Amino acid sequence: MFGQLRFYFAIFFARCTALVLKLIGRKGTSMPGSWAIILCPDFLERIPKPKTILGITGTNGKTTVSNIIEDVLEDLGYSFVCNREGTNVHTGVASSLIAESRFWGKPKRDLAIFELDERSSPRILPYIKPDMLLVTNIFRDSYKRNAHTEFILDILNEYIPDTTRLILNGDDLLCSSVKPHNERVLFGIPRRDGETAERKNIVMDITACPVCGKELSWEFIRYHHIGRAYCEGCGFTSPELDYTVENIDEERKEITVKSAEKEYVYPLLNSSLINIYNSLSAITFLREFGISEDEIAEKMAALSINETRYNETEANGKKIILHLAKGQNPVACSRSFENVRNYPGKKAVILLLDDYLDAKKSVENIAWYYDTDFEFLNSPDISRIVTAGARHWDVYVRLLMAGVPEERIVHIKNENNAAKMLDIDDVESVFVLYDVYTVELADVIKDEIITRISGEKTDEN
Ligand SMILES: [Zn+2]
Repeated sequence: MFGQLRFYFAIFFARCTALVLKLIGRKGTSMPGSWAIILCPDFLERIPKPKTILGITGTNGKTTVSNIIEDVLEDLGYSFVCNREGTNVHTGVASSLIAESRFWGKPKRDLAIFELDERSSPRILPYIKPDMLLVTNIFRDSYKRNAHTEFILDILNEYIPDTTRLILNGDDLLCSSVKPHNERVLFGIPRRDGETAERKNIVMDITACPVCGKELSWEFIRYHHIGRAYCEGCGFTSPELDYTVENIDEERKEITVKSAEKEYVYPLLNSSLINIYNSLSAITFLREFGISEDEIAEKMAALSINETRYNETEANGKKIILHLAKGQNPVACSRSFENVRNYPGKKAVILLLDDYLDAKKSVENIAWYYDTDFEFLNSPDISRIVTAGARHWDVYVRLLMAGVPEERIVHIKNENNAAKMLDIDDVESVFVLYDVYTVELADVIKDEIITRISGEKTDEN
């Protein structure tokens, strides 16, 4: 009885908070949910939930994948609750549920789609029991927040309900091992031309057979621990895949996905492999939710990968590319470094890798730089690297250790001067690699570069 009264008080208070926030013009904050949980710690358990709940989690790609899934379903006329405008932790989920419910918490919609922070699952999954949960991948992430992949796996195994149907990355042995007794559907990209068993990255989060402990052998390694493995000791292998990418046609901008012996062509949103994984996981998820191939293909054709994560602009024949790199996340950074290296033509790079909190209080260690493949930036067609931010000396040392010639590196503390330090005359493209917390800064830098490129004369310098 007391618990239920406390719940009513919490939701009432949260609504007042939301009203005040609305009046002062603040959007997408998790504050109402935070208050609700402070006042009623079992708030998420008590609030009535929509009938069907879909979840998306994993180390990398969950925001992009959630956005694709939500856009397609919205275009198809589905009405649902989601936490797109808020945060992916428990308070964000609570805020979304409060916002999309009647006064005392009865849900206004039958469907909910939540992007879920994997680290926060103990505070979410026991109460928000997803009917279907997509895990994009499991990689090493920020040491401070995520500790280790085995720690994250333990959390997921403990808190994912037994009844949840899983959509998993079958090319990732950590991801595909989640909750082994749950019903599951696996997606993957079979070996592509040129892929070998050679290891190219510093970080490899699984090297030993999960059954007998012998060192794994690899059919191919795509990047980090993504690929297909087998064990010569006990016969363990990577799992069979249910959805596979059979063909990637970059010219026609199409991918062919095969499932149940049938092939179907979908639009290719972005040709980097991480984004092909993102599209494939969204397609698998939507198919398993019951959406037809035709509907998915038609609605996906109208989408683009979220522009705050990857954005290409052109000025005077030169490309300016904003690419999210994610500070403290060695895999996301290594992937973006490899994309820069593989991008055709001569290029310059601006690195804004400082974590927002790092820059503010200098709290975390720099070990993650040594998990990150800065070696990819040691490429003859990358003629200039400007690294800016509180940790510029550390990045400078790391770049030197990666073999980047000293004369190609500029390092400065003030990020606002980064664009000025670029030689843009002899490059065809400029990459700005930034952290989730430096989106606005990256935009400002982009505009400065465009101004410089499109008319050096009008520049006061
Ligand atoms: Zn084995």
